[in-house]
Amino acid sequence: MWPGQNKRRFVGLSEPFSISNGVKQGCVLAPTLFSIFFSMMLKQANENCEDEDGIYIRYRLDGSLFNLRRLQAHTKTNERLIRDFLFADDAALVAHTEQALQRLTSCFADASRCTISSDARLDKEIDNRLARANSSFGRPYKRAWNNKSLKIKTKIQVYRAVVLTTLLYGSETWVTYSSHIRLLERLHQRCLRTILQIHWSDLVTNVEVLEQAEIPSIEALIAKSQLRWAGHVFRMKDHRLPKIALYGEIRTGHRYRGAPKKRYKDCLKKTFTACNIDHQNWSAFAADRSAWRLISSKGVTLFEETRRDTIKDKRSRRKARAASAVSPDPAFSCRLCSRACRSRIGLFSHERSCRQRGHSVPS
Ligand SMILES: [Zn+2]
Repeated sequence: MWPGQNKRRFVGLSEPFSISNGVKQGCVLAPTLFSIFFSMMLKQANENCEDEDGIYIRYRLDGSLFNLRRLQAHTKTNERLIRDFLFADDAALVAHTEQALQRLTSCFADASRCTISSDARLDKEIDNRLARANSSFGRPYKRAWNNKSLKIKTKIQVYRAVVLTTLLYGSETWVTYSSHIRLLERLHQRCLRTILQIHWSDLVTNVEVLEQAEIPSIEALIAKSQLRWAGHVFRMKDHRLPKIALYGEIRTGHRYRGAPKKRYKDCLKKTFTACNIDHQNWSAFAADRSAWRLISSKGVTLFEETRRDTIKDKRSRRKARAASAVSPDPAFSCRLCSRACRSRIGLFSHERSCRQRGHSVPS
């Protein structure tokens, strides 16, 4: 809500009145006002919807989260109709058929008169987060990163508070693929290298940058937030929608064979395994908030250590391989630039690229 707008009250008691002062960014009242406004709007939107619009989720809250066979029981499962998912200021509308989704979207658009984007994939979200984090990194360039009177430790704290929170906003619900992680780690490294003033020609490895900055990798930060979120949802009351969605599956529809798309459960299970948390008995720890926090932070520390060791190991093996490689043989030297290659096939491909670069074969 902004100054100068006319706001009407929902209950018809008073005349419309103009509001001369709105709430500022970060005002504690804003989330509450937004929730009230949004739930009223959704209520209005859903009044015009039919019952079969939306999707049914089949769920049961007993048993292991990762054992999906238990959802095939006929008597112990419950069903619930879901039309929309809300997360902070985002809303996702769901339906099985295109027509039903169109009806839902039209109802929603009529009620809210807002712009709607239709895409549930993470790629765009990652692009969006990268762009936002990039611009929030660029803003305090002179005041923080290039400020000689600030300690590195302070700069890293500012980086965590300003850039990482923007970059990883909502990451507890992401279903990440390695391509997403790669993009996020790249930005992370670029920012840290700017803060620590490490040039690429200094030949400092990514792991060394993280150690110097005393900050974990993006992968570990995402794992941490996902574990925290899993515990939080587990401790919710049984009627809450996030818990039902986590413990259920869609009633109809099928998954493609081969390599179907990852589900949130798959992503979470992988995180559990990587953090050495038993995914059969995790709920026993998650019930107690402080115990869960301890276990998840231990798990993430282990995850980060394993990750660094793996990368270091890979690098040393790569270096050893390069050192022990066959030395160039003068018998396989290029006829154009007289460069010696290691094998006949190597010479063949080198000569081809040499020719493309514009050398001509002497006859
Ligand atoms: Zn050549």
